[in-house]
Amino acid sequence: MEEKIYTVDEKYQDYLSDESRLQGWAEGIFFPESEADIREFAAWAQRSGAAATIQGGRTGLAGGAVPAGGCLLNLSRMSRAGELSRGCGGEFLLEVEPGISLLQLRQEIKRLKSEAELFWPPDPTEASASVGGIVSSGARGICAPRYGNTGRHVAGARIVLAGGRVMELRRGEQLVSLGGEKMDLLDLFIGGEGIFGVLSGLTLQLQPRPRHSWGFMFYFEQKKALYAFVEKLKRSRGELMQLGLAAAEYMDRSTLQLMEEHGETAESLNTAPPLDPGVLAAVYLEAHCGEEEAALEIAGRLADMAAESNCDPDRAWAVSGESGVEKMRDFRHAAAAAVNFHLVKARLSEPRLTGLEIYLEAGDEDFAGVVEKYEAGCYSAGLKAAIYGHILGSRLRVNLLPESYAQYEQGRRLMAQWARELAGSRGKVDRQHGIGKLKRELFLQMAPGAYLEDLHRLKEHYDPAGLWNRGTLLPPPRENG
Ligand SMILES: Cc1cc2nc3c(=O)[nH]c(=O)nc-3n(C[C@H](O)[C@H](O)[C@H](O)COP(=O)(O)OP(=O)(O)OC[C@H]3O[C@@H](n4cnc5c(N)ncnc54)[C@H](O)[C@@H]3O)c2cc1C
Repeated sequence: MEEKIYTVDEKYQDYLSDESRLQGWAEGIFFPESEADIREFAAWAQRSGAAATIQGGRTGLAGGAVPAGGCLLNLSRMSRAGELSRGCGGEFLLEVEPGISLLQLRQEIKRLKSEAELFWPPDPTEASASVGGIVSSGARGICAPRYGNTGRHVAGARIVLAGGRVMELRRGEQLVSLGGEKMDLLDLFIGGEGIFGVLSGLTLQLQPRPRHSWGFMFYFEQKKALYAFVEKLKRSRGELMQLGLAAAEYMDRSTLQLMEEHGETAESLNTAPPLDPGVLAAVYLEAHCGEEEAALEIAGRLADMAAESNCDPDRAWAVSGESGVEKMRDFRHAAAAAVNFHLVKARLSEPRLTGLEIYLEAGDEDFAGVVEKYEAGCYSAGLKAAIYGHILGSRLRVNLLPESYAQYEQGRRLMAQWARELAGSRGKVDRQHGIGKLKRELFLQMAPGAYLEDLHRLKEHYDPAGLWNRGTLLPPPRENG
């Protein structure tokens, strides 16, 4: 086995980090090409006591794929897809290797022969993410209000456990208790951020693509108009969802400004109408409809709501059809890319900076209250931030943008304070994008004791020597017992 593991020298430096820019260290890196290779590696790791960090596309934002010593297990060479099959209930099933990227998966799906045009709903915007990484970190993407959690679109998985044993799980086969609630054992593994084992194969459940897709971008120059529009959206949520609403996303002024500054990161910005300097925020809505009438009705309803909220619907940007919506999605994607680009630039003068983002679920709290709270927190801490994210459920992503290490530490304190406040209220840390290493302390503060006890118990059961993904989600084992 040793001869197949490369020393992490200059050539492999990029593999020591992910999109969070947290920097790790590792002695070796292995690129398995089959499940048998992963099993051989797992047996070797057990024998030699080597810790292993699993990597997919390294687009994670929480440092889950960043090693803390030991060896890297990089799955990028396992990217094959099988043939389409039908489940007992007629579901469309596709088996894939875990390293297949979202981009490759889409191309594979296009090639499939089926009576319906199919798609896999999870879409965390970054198409170089691997399917294994997407499911492991619970990344869902902007259309989660319509399609739900990523786990819903996975029908089964093969998992290589510590020592090399393979376990195969199908949805609905076995339950496990986590924090007093019963959950499907499959979900424990597929959303486990790699701490229980390596996903070596996944059975994805595909579904027919909606026939009509539309995208709408509304721009706001006044907060009052923005808040009124969002409240209307939330009040009409049921009706809009029935018509086909799939995504409702907010982008604040700083996010739009960063996108303009780092425009070269996104070609899509060239296709978008130029931004008026007075624009304070944008709201992106996507609709997936079976019938054209529903698509036209939703377009009309949204235009009316905008007009009633004092936002000029004639200045909105609207597109229809897959390629048009793709362009508009690229625009939303550019928000995350611009925040990342800003971090890369800031790290030139302060290399200790890492991504500082938090996704806090605030239940049904009013949108205006959530935005004002985060803005005020950043302002009083003297920190800049870019805020964007899901409107329905007020699940906003706050990206702090420190320029110095002192500001970075201040930002970490601010996030810990938000986490404590939310732990005391009905909110909880959203595990979307994964907890990884960067959000571990916040997670440990907020997760209920019974939940953490069960996580430790299950980790001990499936990975007694604590070899997989040390330091991700749970604290690393103490070096000296
Ligand atoms: C510009 C940009 C935009 C983004 N936008 C969104 C967004 O809108 N919504 C969203 O949800 N996310 C978003 N993300 C986050 C990111 O795309 C996801 O976290 C991604 O799904 C991770 O996939 P990956 O293959 O890169 O995983 P990695 O970063 O390589 O790994 C992530 C975690 O999964 C584990 N893992 C990977 N493969 C396996 C496996 N086979 N078995 C077991 N464990 C495994 C790793 O150990 C790690 O803990 C964005 C990221 C970027 C850079």
